[in-house]
Amino acid sequence: MVEPILKPAMQLDRRADFPILAQPVRGQRLVYLDNGATTQKPAAVIHAESHFYEHSNANIHRGVHWLSQHATDLYDQARVVTQQFLHAQRIEEIVFTSGTTDSINLIAYSWGMANLTAGDEIVLTGMEHHSNIVPWQLVAQKTGAIIKVVPVLDNGELDLTAYQTLLSNKTKFVGIVHVSNALGTVNPIAQMIEMAHQVGAKVLIDGAQAVAHTEVNVQELDCDFYVFSGHKIYGPTGTGVLYAKYDLLDAMPPWKGGGDMIHTVSFESSTYAPVPQRFEAGTPNIAGVVVLAEALKYVQTVGLDAIAAHEDALLRYATAQLGTMKGITLVGTAANKAGVLSFLVDDIHPHDLGTILDMDGVAIRAGHHCAMPLMTRFGIPGTARASFAVYNSFDDVDALVASLKKAQKLFGVADE
Ligand code: PMP
Repeated sequence: MVEPILKPAMQLDRRADFPILAQPVRGQRLVYLDNGATTQKPAAVIHAESHFYEHSNANIHRGVHWLSQHATDLYDQARVVTQQFLHAQRIEEIVFTSGTTDSINLIAYSWGMANLTAGDEIVLTGMEHHSNIVPWQLVAQKTGAIIKVVPVLDNGELDLTAYQTLLSNKTKFVGIVHVSNALGTVNPIAQMIEMAHQVGAKVLIDGAQAVAHTEVNVQELDCDFYVFSGHKIYGPTGTGVLYAKYDLLDAMPPWKGGGDMIHTVSFESSTYAPVPQRFEAGTPNIAGVVVLAEALKYVQTVGLDAIAAHEDALLRYATAQLGTMKGITLVGTAANKAGVLSFLVDDIHPHDLGTILDMDGVAIRAGHHCAMPLMTRFGIPGTARASFAVYNSFDDVDALVASLKKAQKLFGVADE
């Protein structure tokens, strides 16, 4: 007899914090498992946005009036909250951007264009999101630098032996995704950063899928750059963070010109503001940044250790459940995974599967997950992906499994 999979006791129950989850979808209880794409927002974050516009809205860094100073204070406090969240040494090491993509482009165009020359090597991993590939291709085309790729093993882990052989004194830059959005693999970034530093390369960690799921300490990691998006950590879209070590950031030229990033301007030449202002040209997403700080506080209040433990329990339960079903292939079975379950169901196209699950109010992602080279590596066009957040429950996993079984029946591939 097959042992039943026991449903563990709920560790966290945060569903009620998120108003959108009370809204039925297609007449069903919403089972939101597309958190890798974007997370829902807690009431505290939603209310902080309207509170800002009702009580604090003005442009920052320019006004002499009370409201402008008030908005500036809130914006500056958000930088302190972010600095503490990442455990950065200095406030100036935090630059606000519009998201992970924007942060990586900033590094590529500012640091990359200033520091890479023909023959230099950029090492990226085979599981990078397109946003950590394409900017480097554009910079490589302009500078003559060469991109090398760390291979991915069959279980979705990086081949560290191959990584070691790729590193040489030609390696100037290494870009590594902390947690793969397509596979859930948690990469051994501390070890990989140390290896890159031994050949003198600078290291960027793409933390888009990590910061909402695990504690990040940039000083302990000793990474040169760390980036993430606000919307994947219960904050607003159009907000993002770039952390860079102070000396590195301070030596980088601006890449966007405009108001707020200058010291003096004449038609002959301009001088630039110190960091981080040098990289925040124009009116930023003031409300977004202020609200992002509320999202980071929300995560800290719940506790990243508690969130990590909760999501790990969900992942284990879901992996075990899907493991009992015939016709399911898990893509990405690394020993260390966070919050993401990528899979194929018989020969049902992931998009068809996503559409059928949607009829039951189960929201998953289907496709290449902006990681086409990784899909090519596995010889597949895409996967179905369930990704977990603080508000998901074992009931959500049960709903996913029930809906998958329904889909199999519909396609005539059920094993019962
Ligand atoms: N990197 C990873 C690992 C991601 O998952 C994503 C978003 N799917 C990005 C980068 C890009 O983030 P954004 O679209 O918020 O800029």
